Amino acid sequence: MHGYKFYKKASKAFHSYPPLSRLLLACTLSGGSALVAFSDGISFQRRVYADEGNRQCKKKKVVVLGTGWAATSFLKTLKSDNFEVQVVSPRSYFAFTPLLPSVSSGTVEARSIVEPIRNILKRRGFQVDFKEAECHKIEPDKKRVICRSTQTTNLGQKEEFSIDYDILIIAVGAQVNTFNTPGVSEHAHFMKEIGDAQKARNTVIDCFERASLPRISDEERERILHFVVVGGGPVGVEYAAELHDHVVQDISKLYPSIQDYVKITLLEAGDHILNMYDKRITSFAESKFKRDGIDVKTGSTVTMVTDKEVSAKDRAAGTSLSLPYGIVVWPTGIGSRPFVLDFMKQIGQGKRRLLATDEWLRVEGLDNVYALGDCATINQRRVMEDISAIFSKADRNNTGKLNKSEFKEVIGDICERYPQVEIHLKKSQMKDILTLLEKSSEGDDKQIDIEKF
Ligand SMILES: Cc1cc2nc3c(=O)[nH]c(=O)nc-3n(C[C@H](O)[C@H](O)[C@H](O)COP(=O)(O)OP(=O)(O)OC[C@H]3O[C@@H](n4cnc5c(N)ncnc54)[C@H](O)[C@@H]3O)c2cc1C
Repeated sequence: MHGYKFYKKASKAFHSYPPLSRLLLACTLSGGSALVAFSDGISFQRRVYADEGNRQCKKKKVVVLGTGWAATSFLKTLKSDNFEVQVVSPRSYFAFTPLLPSVSSGTVEARSIVEPIRNILKRRGFQVDFKEAECHKIEPDKKRVICRSTQTTNLGQKEEFSIDYDILIIAVGAQVNTFNTPGVSEHAHFMKEIGDAQKARNTVIDCFERASLPRISDEERERILHFVVVGGGPVGVEYAAELHDHVVQDISKLYPSIQDYVKITLLEAGDHILNMYDKRITSFAESKFKRDGIDVKTGSTVTMVTDKEVSAKDRAAGTSLSLPYGIVVWPTGIGSRPFVLDFMKQIGQGKRRLLATDEWLRVEGLDNVYALGDCATINQRRVMEDISAIFSKADRNNTGKLNKSEFKEVIGDICERYPQVEIHLKKSQMKDILTLLEKSSEGDDKQIDIEKF
């Protein structure tokens, strides 16, 4: 029933204002099926028929790259089995990333924050194929992706294969960004995948064991039990806090003779940690860390990491500092994956950092490729261009002004396209959008010109 209403609404909008109808669909169903229904305007009606039970239409092949937040959100909302869906990812499970730092401290078990993708797909109730493989090339002109299996064959090779698509969903997230800092890839720990969190946890425990050995000098013990976290963003702060609770409140009790050597340092290049949030949050976090004995060094940019030392530059003083460490964790920065960068070059987006999409998450310049999540960014439309297009369409007799009935006709479109209008109305305690017209119209004839509009 819901689906029927949706298509009726969409179909009406499509005929009266095609570009707008695309947005309407995307807004009405903010999930994946809307994206698929939106790959192009021409085939839209055919898909509607397909959903109404016409089985003669050939199923469109939808290929989804990734099993992270973006891909699973898409898959969970895919309601129709009228597509042939293939999912490709080197990870056969979805991971709840916000709890990774808790896995690294052992508060939460890794198995509690993962869900096998095959379970998720099974619950969809229709056939979705999954391949545990990595896409390493997208060929938009041939409409296919080239993949490499993560499993090794009997011959010790990783199988390569290609998959054709009608619609491609790129949801491959991002990779760690080391900002080309020497030594980071080789020596730092990351906090991006389940394996990273488990590895960091084991290394911390190894540090305590090594520091407990009898022939270790005090200086060496101090180094081994110095834990350095780079980056005062949300993940770095979360990790430093978890690490503190883990080592100070739990592990140190098991190693009472060496607990006084434990030190945690957080390095941040900016002037404050959590600087993307409200100042009150920043100062609360900074003072809490101070109370906990976490040494927060702001204005410090890491310049190099060796196997035992982190070098950083103090921006204000212009001096260099060198921090001997036992473990250095780099939960900072994300960058595009190499095959995504290659794809971006192919489609003329080579100078960008992330894949650019329109507001329907369609990769700019391609009708059948969508990108979502950390690998993409939405290019906002120019509001004024939209406004004048809506205005001109409503202004049927070309007077340059809208009267009440003309205005009424575009209200629906405006509210669908700009949900903030309704928020504005609520905040301003206006009954409906016509009150806006009354407020801005001239004289008694209740008309509004483009400027006021
Ligand atoms: C420790 C941590 C804590 C976080 N906490 C929060 C939080 O509290 N709130 C918040 O909003 N965000 C948080 N984030 C950020 C959030 O996890 C990301 O924004 C989110 O994961 C992005 O989703 P995504 O689907 O784009 O990428 P991901 O979730 O990273 O998924 C990418 C998927 O693509 C797959 N993939 C990779 N390469 C390929 C390839 N070549 N071919 C096919 N598939 C590929 C991967 O295996 C994975 O399945 C956190 C991140 C981390 C690391």
